[in-house]
Formats: sequence, C-alpha cells, structure tokens
Amino acid sequence: MPELPELEVVREVLERRLIGRVIGRVTVQPKGGPLVVRDLTARGFAATLTGETPARVERRGKFLVITLEPSSLYLAINPKLTGRLQLCPPAEKKAGPLHLTLHFDDPPTELRYVDAKLMGQVYLTETLAKIPTFDEMGPDALSISPEDFRARLRRFRGEIKGILVRAAFVAGIGNAYADEILWNARLHPYRKRTSLSPEEIDRLYQAIGSTLRQATIQVRQEMGEAIHLKPRDFFAVHMRPGEPCPRCGTPVSAITANQRITNFCRTCQPGGLIRGMPAPPPSA
Ligand SMILES: [Zn+2]
Repeated sequence: MPELPELEVVREVLERRLIGRVIGRVTVQPKGGPLVVRDLTARGFAATLTGETPARVERRGKFLVITLEPSSLYLAINPKLTGRLQLCPPAEKKAGPLHLTLHFDDPPTELRYVDAKLMGQVYLTETLAKIPTFDEMGPDALSISPEDFRARLRRFRGEIKGILVRAAFVAGIGNAYADEILWNARLHPYRKRTSLSPEEIDRLYQAIGSTLRQATIQVRQEMGEAIHLKPRDFFAVHMRPGEPCPRCGTPVSAITANQRITNFCRTCQPGGLIRGMPAPPPSA
C-alpha cells in the first residue's frame, strides 16, 4: 500500500539510478502481466519500451510517471494497495509474484513490478489524460496551499477520513497515512466535515504537511535503495490496535468499516461517535 511518502522515496531512487540508462529488454510475464500492463498507445508494450531511456521520474498522487526518450511517451505506474517495485541485480530473489521486468545493462539491473493481488497498473501512454481517473486527481497533498485546501474541503461531505483518502480531494493519502494525519491533528476520523471548526481545519492542513514530510524522511532512512520494502514501524496509531497511544497512553482503538481498518486514540481524538462503535479494547 504505497502512499505519498513511499512513492516519493521510490521516485528519488529511480531518478538517481535509472535516468539516462537504456531499457535493453522488457519481459511481461504471461501470468498476470497482461492484467497489469496497459498499453494505451496500441504500439505494443514491450516492443515500444525497448531501446527507450527514462529521462524524468515524477510523482503525481499515487502514480509514478517516467518520461521516456526519444519517444516522449509516459510509463505511469499505479501500484494501488498491493503492487510494489523492486530495483535489483538479476540474481536477487523476487519480492513477490512478478509481472513485469525492465532490464537495464551496465551494470545489469532489473526494475521489477510485483503484485500479490494484481490490483495495480502500469500504463504506457502518449498523454497522461488517457489514463482512467488521472485527470480527476486533486492537487498533490504536499503542494496544496492552505487557501486551496479550505476551499476544496467545502465541496466534500461526509466523514473527514473518507474525504482525506479521496484522490479527487487531494492526491497521495491512503488509509494508513490518513490515520496518522488525523492522530497528529487530534481529530476523530469519523468527525463530519461540516462539524470541523476553522481552527480544526487549519490543524488538519498543518498535520498533512508535517506527517507526510516527516514520514518521507523516515522512509528514506529505512528503505535506502530497497524500494520494495514498506517501512512502517514509525507509525503512531495505524496498525497498532491495543498499543498505548504515544501521546497519552490510551490503548489505540480499531474500527473496521468497508474492509478498511481505522486506528485512532479515543482520548486524543474525541467525538465522532457512531452507531456500532465497539467497546474500547482492554487496557494493555
Ligand atoms: Zn492519545
């Protein structure tokens, strides 16, 4: 489940390691590969990519976009919940079910796309607008201004966590970092957007920037060049049910709704009570 911090670090590594190197060969695994690979150019995925050179690596929300030369085509990778990239020498063990490999020479290097559940996509396209939902993405979570943030927020209704993870609102935040951001902002994940005060909205905006920036630093340190890893041991509440809140010591709560786990601290993030809310877990 790479989100903005992981993808930003992957972007940095790919930029450092692959810019200017020629793609010597492309392997699409028959099993699952055709599901992952989406050739929007109709020129043939592997044949078109072979001989191309990554000229730029950018991140847009939860997409990594590699600009290729000389064709000026884009290779856009959207790993969704389960996809991962691995950059390694050919002999290294696969980090998961392998679907696509870009082979580079000198020294021999593979950029692999692995995906346990085949949820993600790798698009080859002339224009990014051709990628489904790409143009519907809101501004990036790290570059939105406070004014734009407040104005856009007014257009969305419902619970604040549900809004944070919508790419149409801001791009780059998923389930995990939404929990971390709301904990930092001391806001209950199920607070209705309409119930938030201007002061709380400012706090939320600040928490988005500080949480994602701090996490990027942490991920950069722990991941290094092993871009298939998902270092998350620094999380305060996400996937830590029952553990003490790092701020107040209250056991972290967990609620599962729509197959999504939400973790938060009932003491630091009060309010937002909903029907069916489970009893707090026993004290640790
Ligand atoms: Zn707490």
